[in-house]
Amino acid sequence: MIMTPKTKCRFCGADVTQTFVDLGMSPLCESYVSQDRLNQMEPFYPLHVKVCSNCFLVQLEEYVAPENIFSDYAYFSSYSDSWLAHAKAYTDKMIEQFGLDKDSFVVELASNDGYLLQYFVGRNIPVLGIEPASNVAVVAEEKGVPTLVKFFGRELAGELAEEGKKADLILGNNVLAQVPDLNSFVAGMKILLKPNGVITLEFPHLLRLVAENQFDTIYHEHFSYFSFLTTDHIFKAHGMKVFDVEEISTHGGSLRVYGCHQEDGSKPESSKVTALLEREKVAGCDKLEYYESFGEQVEKTKYQLLEFLIHAKKSGKTIVGYGAPGKGNTLLNYCGIRTDFIDYTVDRSPHKQGKFLPGTHIPIYHPDRITETRPDYVFILPWNLKDEIMQQMAHIRGWGGQFFVPIPSPTVFP
Ligand SMILES: [Zn+2]
Repeated sequence: MIMTPKTKCRFCGADVTQTFVDLGMSPLCESYVSQDRLNQMEPFYPLHVKVCSNCFLVQLEEYVAPENIFSDYAYFSSYSDSWLAHAKAYTDKMIEQFGLDKDSFVVELASNDGYLLQYFVGRNIPVLGIEPASNVAVVAEEKGVPTLVKFFGRELAGELAEEGKKADLILGNNVLAQVPDLNSFVAGMKILLKPNGVITLEFPHLLRLVAENQFDTIYHEHFSYFSFLTTDHIFKAHGMKVFDVEEISTHGGSLRVYGCHQEDGSKPESSKVTALLEREKVAGCDKLEYYESFGEQVEKTKYQLLEFLIHAKKSGKTIVGYGAPGKGNTLLNYCGIRTDFIDYTVDRSPHKQGKFLPGTHIPIYHPDRITETRPDYVFILPWNLKDEIMQQMAHIRGWGGQFFVPIPSPTVFP
Protein backbone atom coordinates (compact mmCIF):
# COMPACT_ATOMS: atom_id res chain seq x y z
CA MET A 1 0.00 0.00 0.00
CA ILE A 2 1.29 3.43 -0.93
CA MET A 3 1.24 5.89 1.93
CA THR A 4 0.63 9.50 1.03
CA PRO A 5 0.85 12.30 3.58
CA LYS A 6 -2.45 13.30 5.16
CA THR A 7 -3.94 16.55 4.00
CA LYS A 8 -6.72 18.56 5.58
CA CYS A 9 -9.57 20.07 3.57
CA ARG A 10 -8.95 23.72 2.75
CA PHE A 11 -12.55 24.58 3.64
CA CYS A 12 -13.93 22.19 6.28
CA GLY A 13 -10.74 20.73 7.77
CA ALA A 14 -11.62 17.05 7.25
CA ASP A 15 -8.92 14.56 6.14
CA VAL A 16 -8.71 14.44 2.36
CA THR A 17 -7.75 11.05 0.94
CA GLN A 18 -9.87 10.45 -2.19
CA THR A 19 -8.12 11.03 -5.54
CA PHE A 20 -9.96 13.09 -8.17
CA VAL A 21 -7.22 12.90 -10.80
CA ASP A 22 -3.46 12.37 -10.69
CA LEU A 23 -1.64 14.20 -13.52
CA GLY A 24 1.83 13.18 -12.34
CA MET A 25 4.69 15.61 -11.88
CA SER A 26 4.62 18.97 -13.61
CA PRO A 27 6.56 22.27 -13.52
CA LEU A 28 4.78 25.51 -12.58
CA CYS A 29 2.75 26.25 -15.67
CA GLU A 30 3.62 29.94 -15.86
CA SER A 31 7.40 29.51 -15.39
CA TYR A 32 8.44 30.17 -18.98
CA VAL A 33 12.09 29.38 -19.50
CA SER A 34 14.48 31.90 -21.04
CA GLN A 35 17.22 30.86 -23.47
CA ASP A 36 20.03 31.25 -20.92
CA ARG A 37 18.29 28.93 -18.43
CA LEU A 38 17.57 26.09 -20.86
CA ASN A 39 20.27 23.82 -19.43
CA GLN A 40 19.32 24.32 -15.81
CA MET A 41 17.11 22.23 -13.54
CA GLU A 42 13.42 23.00 -13.30
CA PRO A 43 11.39 22.13 -10.21
CA PHE A 44 8.53 19.69 -10.82
CA TYR A 45 5.70 19.26 -8.31
CA PRO A 46 2.85 16.75 -8.05
CA LEU A 47 -0.44 17.57 -9.77
CA HIS A 48 -2.45 15.16 -7.67
CA VAL A 49 -5.95 16.50 -7.14
CA LYS A 50 -8.18 15.12 -4.41
CA VAL A 51 -11.75 15.60 -3.28
CA CYS A 52 -12.98 16.07 0.29
CA SER A 53 -15.51 13.35 1.08
CA ASN A 54 -17.13 15.61 3.67
CA CYS A 55 -17.81 18.87 1.72
CA PHE A 56 -16.83 17.77 -1.84
CA LEU A 57 -14.37 20.58 -2.37
CA VAL A 58 -12.00 19.41 -5.12
CA GLN A 59 -8.55 20.58 -4.18
CA LEU A 60 -4.86 20.49 -4.78
CA GLU A 61 -2.46 20.52 -1.91
CA GLU A 62 -0.40 23.70 -1.60
CA TYR A 63 2.72 22.10 -3.08
CA VAL A 64 4.20 25.49 -3.88
CA ALA A 65 3.95 28.62 -1.74
CA PRO A 66 1.93 31.34 -3.52
CA GLU A 67 4.80 33.83 -3.10
CA ASN A 68 6.78 31.62 -5.50
CA ILE A 69 3.98 31.51 -8.02
CA PHE A 70 2.49 34.97 -8.16
CA SER A 71 5.31 37.43 -7.53
CA ASP A 72 6.29 37.76 -11.20
CA TYR A 73 3.32 36.47 -13.09
CA ALA A 74 3.62 36.29 -16.86
CA TYR A 75 -0.11 36.47 -17.46
CA PHE A 76 -1.19 39.87 -18.72
CA SER A 77 -4.97 39.81 -19.05
CA SER A 78 -5.06 42.49 -21.74
CA TYR A 79 -3.66 40.26 -24.48
CA SER A 80 -6.96 38.57 -25.27
CA ASP A 81 -9.58 40.54 -27.22
CA SER A 82 -12.46 38.37 -26.09
CA TRP A 83 -11.44 38.67 -22.44
CA LEU A 84 -11.36 42.47 -22.71
CA ALA A 85 -14.79 42.49 -24.34
CA HIS A 86 -16.05 40.29 -21.48
CA ALA A 87 -14.63 42.74 -18.91
CA LYS A 88 -16.21 45.72 -20.62
CA ALA A 89 -19.64 44.05 -20.82
CA TYR A 90 -19.38 43.13 -17.13
CA THR A 91 -18.66 46.72 -16.00
CA ASP A 92 -21.58 48.11 -18.05
CA LYS A 93 -23.92 45.53 -16.53
CA MET A 94 -22.79 46.17 -12.93
CA ILE A 95 -23.05 49.97 -13.29
CA GLU A 96 -26.58 49.67 -14.58
CA GLN A 97 -27.81 46.89 -12.30
CA PHE A 98 -26.45 48.27 -9.02
CA GLY A 99 -26.51 51.99 -9.87
CA LEU A 100 -22.78 52.55 -9.36
CA ASP A 101 -21.55 56.15 -9.72
CA LYS A 102 -18.80 58.57 -8.61
CA ASP A 103 -19.74 57.99 -4.94
CA SER A 104 -19.36 54.21 -5.16
CA PHE A 105 -16.24 52.21 -4.48
CA VAL A 106 -15.24 49.13 -6.46
CA VAL A 107 -12.51 46.74 -5.33
CA GLU A 108 -11.12 44.01 -7.54
CA LEU A 109 -9.20 41.13 -6.01
CA ALA A 110 -6.40 39.96 -8.29
CA SER A 111 -6.83 42.93 -10.59
CA ASN A 112 -3.98 41.85 -12.86
CA ASP A 113 -2.94 44.64 -15.28
CA GLY A 114 -6.09 46.73 -14.74
CA TYR A 115 -7.79 45.07 -17.73
CA LEU A 116 -11.20 45.41 -16.04
CA LEU A 117 -11.01 48.28 -13.56
CA GLN A 118 -9.93 50.60 -16.40
CA TYR A 119 -13.55 50.53 -17.63
CA PHE A 120 -14.86 51.68 -14.22
CA VAL A 121 -12.18 54.41 -14.18
CA GLY A 122 -13.41 55.45 -17.63
CA ARG A 123 -16.89 55.98 -16.12
CA ASN A 124 -15.49 58.02 -13.17
CA ILE A 125 -16.16 55.34 -10.58
CA PRO A 126 -13.49 55.12 -7.84
CA VAL A 127 -11.65 51.80 -7.79
CA LEU A 128 -8.90 49.91 -6.02
CA GLY A 129 -7.07 46.94 -7.44
CA ILE A 130 -5.40 44.38 -5.19
CA GLU A 131 -2.78 42.37 -7.02
CA PRO A 132 0.10 40.35 -5.55
CA ALA A 133 2.20 40.29 -8.75
CA SER A 134 4.17 43.53 -8.80
CA ASN A 135 5.11 43.42 -12.49
CA VAL A 136 1.48 43.43 -13.65
CA ALA A 137 0.48 45.94 -10.97
CA VAL A 138 2.94 48.43 -12.50
CA VAL A 139 1.12 48.17 -15.83
CA ALA A 140 -2.20 48.77 -14.06
CA GLU A 141 -0.91 51.93 -12.39
CA GLU A 142 0.20 53.21 -15.80
CA LYS A 143 -3.43 52.85 -16.93
CA GLY A 144 -4.60 54.98 -14.01
CA VAL A 145 -5.81 52.05 -11.91
CA PRO A 146 -4.68 52.45 -8.26
CA THR A 147 -3.26 49.09 -7.22
CA LEU A 148 -2.08 47.62 -3.91
CA VAL A 149 0.60 44.95 -4.32
CA LYS A 150 -0.63 42.54 -1.64
CA PHE A 151 -2.32 39.22 -0.98
CA PHE A 152 -5.94 39.61 0.07
CA GLY A 153 -7.32 38.07 3.27
CA ARG A 154 -8.81 38.88 6.67
CA GLU A 155 -5.89 41.09 7.66
CA LEU A 156 -5.81 43.38 4.63
CA ALA A 157 -9.62 43.60 4.58
CA GLY A 158 -9.54 44.72 8.22
CA GLU A 159 -6.98 47.43 7.47
CA LEU A 160 -8.97 48.76 4.51
CA ALA A 161 -12.24 48.72 6.46
CA GLU A 162 -10.57 50.66 9.25
CA GLU A 163 -9.43 53.30 6.74
CA GLY A 164 -13.07 53.67 5.68
CA LYS A 165 -12.51 51.88 2.38
CA LYS A 166 -15.46 49.49 2.43
CA ALA A 167 -16.75 48.49 -0.98
CA ASP A 168 -20.07 48.67 -2.80
CA LEU A 169 -18.82 46.08 -5.21
CA ILE A 170 -16.10 43.50 -4.63
CA LEU A 171 -15.20 41.42 -7.62
CA GLY A 172 -12.86 38.55 -8.16
CA ASN A 173 -12.44 36.97 -11.56
CA ASN A 174 -10.53 33.69 -11.63
CA VAL A 175 -9.00 34.29 -8.23
CA LEU A 176 -11.05 32.10 -5.87
CA ALA A 177 -9.39 28.97 -7.23
CA GLN A 178 -5.97 30.47 -6.63
CA VAL A 179 -6.39 31.24 -2.95
CA PRO A 180 -4.54 28.89 -0.61
CA ASP A 181 -6.27 30.21 2.55
CA LEU A 182 -9.81 30.05 1.24
CA ASN A 183 -11.50 30.83 4.56
CA SER A 184 -9.38 33.94 5.18
CA PHE A 185 -10.14 35.20 1.67
CA VAL A 186 -13.92 34.75 1.96
CA ALA A 187 -13.97 36.16 5.51
CA GLY A 188 -12.02 39.15 4.16
CA MET A 189 -14.70 39.86 1.57
CA LYS A 190 -17.33 39.87 4.31
CA ILE A 191 -15.26 42.40 6.31
CA LEU A 192 -14.68 44.67 3.32
CA LEU A 193 -18.27 44.69 2.06
CA LYS A 194 -20.66 47.59 2.83
CA PRO A 195 -23.99 46.51 4.42
CA ASN A 196 -25.79 46.57 1.04
CA GLY A 197 -22.75 45.79 -1.08
CA VAL A 198 -22.45 43.08 -3.70
CA ILE A 199 -19.76 40.50 -4.34
CA THR A 200 -19.34 38.92 -7.74
CA LEU A 201 -16.97 36.05 -8.30
CA GLU A 202 -16.23 34.26 -11.52
CA PHE A 203 -14.54 30.89 -11.55
CA PRO A 204 -14.52 27.79 -13.72
CA HIS A 205 -17.47 25.53 -12.94
CA LEU A 206 -16.55 22.06 -11.74
CA LEU A 207 -19.66 20.61 -13.37
CA ARG A 208 -18.29 21.71 -16.76
CA LEU A 209 -14.74 20.60 -15.96
CA VAL A 210 -16.00 17.07 -15.38
CA ALA A 211 -18.64 17.00 -18.15
CA GLU A 212 -16.26 18.43 -20.75
CA ASN A 213 -13.09 16.74 -19.59
CA GLN A 214 -11.19 19.98 -18.97
CA PHE A 215 -8.41 18.36 -17.00
CA ASP A 216 -5.82 20.76 -18.40
CA THR A 217 -7.37 23.60 -16.37
CA ILE A 218 -5.77 21.90 -13.36
CA TYR A 219 -2.47 23.47 -12.37
CA HIS A 220 -0.48 24.30 -9.27
CA GLU A 221 -1.84 27.84 -9.23
CA HIS A 222 -5.39 26.45 -8.94
CA PHE A 223 -5.78 25.14 -5.42
CA SER A 224 -9.57 24.63 -5.48
CA TYR A 225 -12.25 23.60 -8.03
CA PHE A 226 -15.80 24.59 -7.17
CA SER A 227 -19.23 23.19 -7.74
CA PHE A 228 -22.08 25.61 -7.06
CA LEU A 229 -23.13 23.46 -4.10
CA THR A 230 -19.74 23.88 -2.44
CA THR A 231 -19.65 27.62 -3.20
CA ASP A 232 -23.05 28.04 -1.58
CA HIS A 233 -21.81 26.19 1.56
CA ILE A 234 -18.73 28.40 1.75
CA PHE A 235 -20.71 31.66 1.54
CA LYS A 236 -23.14 30.45 4.21
CA ALA A 237 -20.32 29.41 6.52
CA HIS A 238 -19.05 32.99 6.40
CA GLY A 239 -22.31 34.80 7.11
CA MET A 240 -23.13 35.55 3.51
CA LYS A 241 -25.46 34.20 0.87
CA VAL A 242 -25.48 33.67 -2.86
CA PHE A 243 -28.53 35.46 -4.27
CA ASP A 244 -27.96 35.00 -7.99
CA VAL A 245 -25.85 33.01 -10.42
CA GLU A 246 -25.12 33.11 -14.12
CA GLU A 247 -23.47 30.52 -16.29
CA ILE A 248 -20.98 32.22 -18.58
CA SER A 249 -18.77 30.91 -21.34
CA THR A 250 -15.33 32.09 -20.18
CA HIS A 251 -12.60 29.52 -19.51
CA GLY A 252 -14.67 26.70 -20.93
CA GLY A 253 -17.69 27.37 -18.72
CA SER A 254 -17.66 29.47 -15.60
CA LEU A 255 -20.06 30.63 -12.94
CA ARG A 256 -20.60 34.23 -11.97
CA VAL A 257 -22.03 34.15 -8.46
CA TYR A 258 -23.57 37.17 -6.74
CA GLY A 259 -23.17 37.31 -2.99
CA CYS A 260 -24.21 39.66 -0.21
CA HIS A 261 -24.43 39.73 3.58
CA GLN A 262 -26.74 37.07 5.03
CA GLU A 263 -28.75 39.81 6.75
CA ASP A 264 -29.17 41.96 3.62
CA GLY A 265 -32.90 41.71 2.86
CA SER A 266 -32.76 43.99 -0.19
CA LYS A 267 -31.71 41.26 -2.60
CA PRO A 268 -34.26 38.55 -3.37
CA GLU A 269 -32.92 35.12 -4.26
CA SER A 270 -33.12 34.34 -7.95
CA SER A 271 -34.82 31.15 -9.08
CA LYS A 272 -31.58 30.37 -10.92
CA VAL A 273 -29.93 29.58 -7.57
CA THR A 274 -32.34 26.78 -6.68
CA ALA A 275 -32.38 25.48 -10.25
CA LEU A 276 -28.59 25.14 -10.43
CA LEU A 277 -28.34 23.54 -6.97
CA GLU A 278 -30.93 21.02 -8.14
CA ARG A 279 -29.10 20.33 -11.40
CA GLU A 280 -25.87 19.63 -9.55
CA LYS A 281 -27.64 17.24 -7.20
CA VAL A 282 -29.09 15.38 -10.17
CA ALA A 283 -25.59 15.18 -11.70
CA GLY A 284 -24.35 13.72 -8.41
CA CYS A 285 -22.04 16.53 -7.21
CA ASP A 286 -23.00 15.68 -3.63
CA LYS A 287 -21.88 12.05 -3.94
CA LEU A 288 -18.35 10.67 -3.96
CA GLU A 289 -19.02 8.36 -6.95
CA TYR A 290 -19.31 11.42 -9.19
CA TYR A 291 -15.67 12.26 -8.55
CA GLU A 292 -14.23 8.76 -8.69
CA SER A 293 -14.43 8.09 -12.45
CA PHE A 294 -12.78 11.29 -13.66
CA GLY A 295 -9.21 9.96 -13.65
CA GLU A 296 -10.07 7.13 -16.03
CA GLN A 297 -11.70 9.55 -18.48
CA VAL A 298 -8.52 11.68 -18.45
CA GLU A 299 -6.24 8.72 -19.18
CA LYS A 300 -8.40 7.75 -22.16
CA THR A 301 -8.05 11.25 -23.60
CA LYS A 302 -4.28 11.08 -23.25
CA TYR A 303 -4.14 7.84 -25.25
CA GLN A 304 -6.38 9.30 -28.01
CA LEU A 305 -4.32 12.46 -28.22
CA LEU A 306 -1.06 10.56 -28.50
CA GLU A 307 -2.56 8.25 -31.11
CA PHE A 308 -3.46 11.23 -33.27
CA LEU A 309 -0.04 12.87 -32.89
CA ILE A 310 1.88 9.66 -33.58
CA HIS A 311 -0.21 8.96 -36.65
CA ALA A 312 0.28 12.52 -37.95
CA LYS A 313 4.06 12.42 -37.45
CA LYS A 314 4.36 8.96 -39.05
CA SER A 315 2.54 10.39 -42.09
CA GLY A 316 5.13 13.16 -42.34
CA LYS A 317 2.89 16.01 -41.18
CA THR A 318 4.13 19.12 -39.40
CA ILE A 319 2.41 20.29 -36.23
CA VAL A 320 2.82 23.61 -34.44
CA GLY A 321 1.06 25.06 -31.42
CA TYR A 322 -1.03 28.19 -31.03
CA GLY A 323 -0.91 29.92 -27.66
CA ALA A 324 1.18 29.38 -24.55
CA PRO A 325 -1.45 29.30 -21.80
CA GLY A 326 -1.06 27.60 -18.45
CA LYS A 327 -3.52 24.92 -19.49
CA GLY A 328 -1.32 24.01 -22.45
CA ASN A 329 1.55 23.28 -20.13
CA THR A 330 -0.47 20.90 -17.96
CA LEU A 331 -1.61 19.07 -21.07
CA LEU A 332 1.81 18.85 -22.74
CA ASN A 333 3.65 17.76 -19.59
CA TYR A 334 1.03 15.20 -18.61
CA CYS A 335 1.01 13.70 -22.10
CA GLY A 336 4.78 13.96 -22.65
CA ILE A 337 4.47 16.07 -25.81
CA ARG A 338 7.65 17.97 -26.71
CA THR A 339 9.34 19.15 -29.91
CA ASP A 340 9.21 15.55 -31.08
CA PHE A 341 5.55 16.31 -31.90
CA ILE A 342 5.15 20.11 -31.87
CA ASP A 343 7.87 22.15 -33.62
CA TYR A 344 7.05 25.38 -31.80
CA THR A 345 4.15 27.41 -30.50
CA VAL A 346 3.23 31.08 -30.95
CA ASP A 347 1.73 33.67 -28.65
CA ARG A 348 0.60 37.27 -29.07
CA SER A 349 2.13 38.29 -25.76
CA PRO A 350 5.61 39.77 -26.32
CA HIS A 351 6.44 38.70 -22.74
CA LYS A 352 6.29 35.07 -23.81
CA GLN A 353 7.89 35.34 -27.26
CA GLY A 354 11.52 34.19 -27.32
CA LYS A 355 10.97 31.97 -24.28
CA PHE A 356 10.29 28.23 -23.95
CA LEU A 357 7.37 26.34 -22.42
CA PRO A 358 8.13 25.01 -18.92
CA GLY A 359 9.12 21.35 -18.82
CA THR A 360 8.65 20.61 -22.51
CA HIS A 361 10.94 23.44 -23.76
CA ILE A 362 8.85 24.04 -26.86
CA PRO A 363 9.96 27.47 -28.22
CA ILE A 364 7.46 30.37 -28.35
CA TYR A 365 7.42 32.71 -31.36
CA HIS A 366 5.37 35.55 -32.78
CA PRO A 367 2.20 34.32 -34.60
CA ASP A 368 3.69 35.38 -37.98
CA ARG A 369 5.94 32.33 -37.77
CA ILE A 370 2.96 30.15 -38.71
CA THR A 371 2.50 32.00 -42.02
CA GLU A 372 6.22 31.64 -42.73
CA THR A 373 6.44 27.89 -42.07
CA ARG A 374 2.99 26.74 -43.34
CA PRO A 375 2.42 23.74 -41.01
CA ASP A 376 -0.16 21.00 -41.66
CA TYR A 377 -1.74 21.28 -38.23
CA VAL A 378 -2.16 24.16 -35.79
CA PHE A 379 -2.70 22.67 -32.33
CA ILE A 380 -4.81 25.17 -30.37
CA LEU A 381 -3.75 25.03 -26.72
CA PRO A 382 -6.22 27.65 -25.33
CA TRP A 383 -9.20 25.65 -26.67
CA ASN A 384 -11.58 28.01 -24.85
CA LEU A 385 -10.56 30.71 -27.38
CA LYS A 386 -10.70 28.40 -30.39
CA ASP A 387 -13.37 30.35 -32.30
CA GLU A 388 -11.42 33.61 -31.99
CA ILE A 389 -8.16 31.90 -32.99
CA MET A 390 -9.61 30.00 -35.94
CA GLN A 391 -11.00 33.29 -37.23
CA GLN A 392 -7.70 35.15 -36.76
CA MET A 393 -5.74 32.34 -38.40
CA ALA A 394 -8.28 31.39 -41.10
CA HIS A 395 -5.60 31.94 -43.77
CA ILE A 396 -3.85 28.66 -42.85
CA ARG A 397 -6.56 26.92 -44.89
CA GLY A 398 -4.97 28.57 -47.95
CA TRP A 399 -2.13 26.04 -47.85
CA GLY A 400 -4.33 23.17 -46.61
CA GLY A 401 -3.57 23.75 -42.93
CA GLN A 402 -6.01 22.40 -40.36
CA PHE A 403 -6.81 23.24 -36.75
CA PHE A 404 -6.56 20.69 -33.98
CA VAL A 405 -8.18 21.02 -30.57
CA PRO A 406 -7.40 18.54 -27.75
CA ILE A 407 -10.37 19.13 -25.39
CA PRO A 408 -13.05 17.77 -24.72
CA SER A 409 -11.73 15.10 -27.07
CA PRO A 410 -9.01 15.34 -29.71
CA THR A 411 -10.66 16.86 -32.82
CA VAL A 412 -9.49 18.16 -36.22
CA PHE A 413 -11.28 21.21 -37.67
CA PRO A 414 -10.70 21.18 -41.46
ZN1 LIG B 1 -14.03 19.58 3.12
